[in-house]
Amino acid sequence: MRLILLGPPGAGKGTQAQRLTQSHGLVQLSTGDMLRAAVKAGTAIGMKAKAIMDQGGLVSDDIVVGIIAERIDQPDCRKGFILDGFPRTTKQAEALDKMLSERKLKLDAVIEMKVDDKVLVSRITGRFTCAKCGAGYHDSFQPTKQPGVCDRCGSTEFSRRADDNAETVVPRLTAYHGQTAPLLPYYEGKGILRQVDGMAEINEVTRQIDEVLKSI
Ligand code: ADP
Ligand code: ADP
Ligand code: ZN
Repeated sequence: MRLILLGPPGAGKGTQAQRLTQSHGLVQLSTGDMLRAAVKAGTAIGMKAKAIMDQGGLVSDDIVVGIIAERIDQPDCRKGFILDGFPRTTKQAEALDKMLSERKLKLDAVIEMKVDDKVLVSRITGRFTCAKCGAGYHDSFQPTKQPGVCDRCGSTEFSRRADDNAETVVPRLTAYHGQTAPLLPYYEGKGILRQVDGMAEINEVTRQIDEVLKSI
């Protein structure tokens, strides 16, 4: 199964993608995670991307398309994958169509996670992840069961993203509405767009995504 989770920053794409990797054995392909890894490793791509990411802009299409093209050929993607944060522009969507058709693969569904802009600031500013296993949390909406201890791996170290602050939210939302939202009619035209209520609580969103997956 090949899916796209589409929604604004803070919509819950990463949270739901992590759950799908466990429940459906799919690989999560997050261009944001890959770019952050490149920044951390100090690669040429990371150095190009860092300033743009810090400002909440979009990294160039060529860079992210290159990253994904390389990644989907790896053996772990054969069973299927969930794209989280890619594509984000029409150019990226067209490049994805081309790379899939060249490989005789198709997308099964594009799941839009609908969330009002006004909740996204608090979603983003309260977000943190386990530094060891990458499990995602939120200060108020998804805290660890035991304060300061990761539910999944027991680590006591956590990290917050440099770009998860109130200042970058505005340009990130502008980029979403201006450059990514046009993908909704693009995929609707192909008959593969589905919607879930991203405002619902996390388990309910998971349930709605499961319903979608059962129907395809
Ligand atoms: P995205 O990958 O779309 O940017 P995340 O999955 O990282 O979003 O979610 C953003 C933050 O909001 C995280 O801290 C997460 O724990 C929290 N969150 C995710 N889904 C929900 C939800 N349905 N209700 C409340 N908080 C949520
Ligand atoms: P969010 O949680 O805001 O959805 P991501 O982790 O997906 O964020 O992305 C973080 C940043 O990485 C983005 O603000 C952007 O600068 C860059 N980025 C990630 N994916 C893409 C993409 N497909 N195209 C362009 N830039 C991207
Ligand atoms: Zn952990």
